[in-house]
Amino acid sequence: MSQFDPQRLLADVAAFCEELRPIEELCYVEHRFNDQVVPLARKYDLLAMPVPPQYGGRGADTVTYARALARINREGTGVRTFFSGHTSIGEYPILTWGSEDLRRRYLPAAAKGEKILAFGLTEPDAGSNPLEMTSTFERRGDHYVLNGVKYLISNGGIAHAVVSFAKGPNGRISAFVVDRRPGFASEDLTAKMGMPTANTAMFELTDCRVPLGNLLGEEGDGFRIAMGTLVSGRLSVASGCLGVIEDCLIDAANFARERRQHGKEIARHQLVQEHIAMIEQHRAATEAMVLRAAETKDASNREPGNAELRARADLFAAQAKLFAASAAWDAADRAVQVFGGRGWSTLYRPGRHLQDVRVCRIYEGTEEILKLKVAAAVLGKEYEAYK
Ligand SMILES: Cc1cc2nc3c(=O)[nH]c(=O)nc-3n(C[C@H](O)[C@H](O)[C@H](O)COP(=O)(O)OP(=O)(O)OC[C@H]3O[C@@H](n4cnc5c(N)ncnc54)[C@H](O)[C@@H]3O)c2cc1C
Repeated sequence: MSQFDPQRLLADVAAFCEELRPIEELCYVEHRFNDQVVPLARKYDLLAMPVPPQYGGRGADTVTYARALARINREGTGVRTFFSGHTSIGEYPILTWGSEDLRRRYLPAAAKGEKILAFGLTEPDAGSNPLEMTSTFERRGDHYVLNGVKYLISNGGIAHAVVSFAKGPNGRISAFVVDRRPGFASEDLTAKMGMPTANTAMFELTDCRVPLGNLLGEEGDGFRIAMGTLVSGRLSVASGCLGVIEDCLIDAANFARERRQHGKEIARHQLVQEHIAMIEQHRAATEAMVLRAAETKDASNREPGNAELRARADLFAAQAKLFAASAAWDAADRAVQVFGGRGWSTLYRPGRHLQDVRVCRIYEGTEEILKLKVAAAVLGKEYEAYK
């Protein structure tokens, strides 16, 4: 079996981004879903980057996958969100908690783009606290029957299968891979502040039959699986935010060198230089936090039985996501400012980044929830703000 080659993967990612860029820009301006992301990702074999080759993936380590997502997010948070939904929180739980049969049934097909995946945890009345979910499952003979509504699901309208969570008769949450089939109905959410080229949807399960073999882990493992998956998801958001900052830095610096006002390039005005300096500070700090989180996740993957390492990976991913999301928001805002009136237009990259990246402060754990997590890690478990 050939060794994983990080440079080869990152070269494929760069080629994918180059080919995607004009299509994504046009879709963005026309406010329509970009249906070329999947075929192009398939062309460059990017639909299962961290999945081991025996299940059709590239076998990327977390650090390389983080770099890939940062590069992809330079093309837009909507593009990266597709990969997060499909891979970081779609393929990841199937690989980590799925049976061998489940992995074989879903992962190679997901790697080829024949099965697009999503992750359905949030409900209309259960966001920050998934324990308040009202979706239910019951076991009937050789299958489970699921009922409930999932809200704000990335890829939810295009997915062939969704990792979904529901409560059993004993009130404990379980996780299932649910196929789009009779009893599964989705509706796209289009009144959005950003990411017009990406799919966000709600879906309803009505007496939806799921084979017993599509359970992840054991019955009652759902909450643990959801929280474990969010570590991977938060890392993907943090990595994506790094890409936003990098793109804003390149664009703001280039624009500032070219644009002239008051007889010189605006890059020579010191207040403009402050914006450039602060975006670079955000970039450097975010890169360090993403790398720390990704390296720790790689170490934890190598030692799955090490609970302390797992807890550190969880905390570092939360810290990276919390920091990166607000740094990217500020970087995009500063880049818009450097661009002046053009910055306010979505014809330019900073304005699009600003609109899109706002969601990174909300999904995969809001800023508030992540701050509580960081505070509890410092103060001790007895100071946890909620149970
Ligand atoms: C574009 C987009 C894509 C998404 N993709 C997915 C997806 O693929 N899968 C999925 O399952 N979900 C997804 N989500 C849902 C997202 O994870 C939730 O929106 C998020 O977890 C917050 O839940 P909520 O919207 O119900 O807000 P709420 O939980 O109602 O929170 C509202 C406000 O109250 C604050 N708050 C809540 N509890 C506390 C507390 N204890 N202390 C302090 N403040 C608190 C929150 O921080 C927030 O500011 C997506 C959301 C968006 C916008």
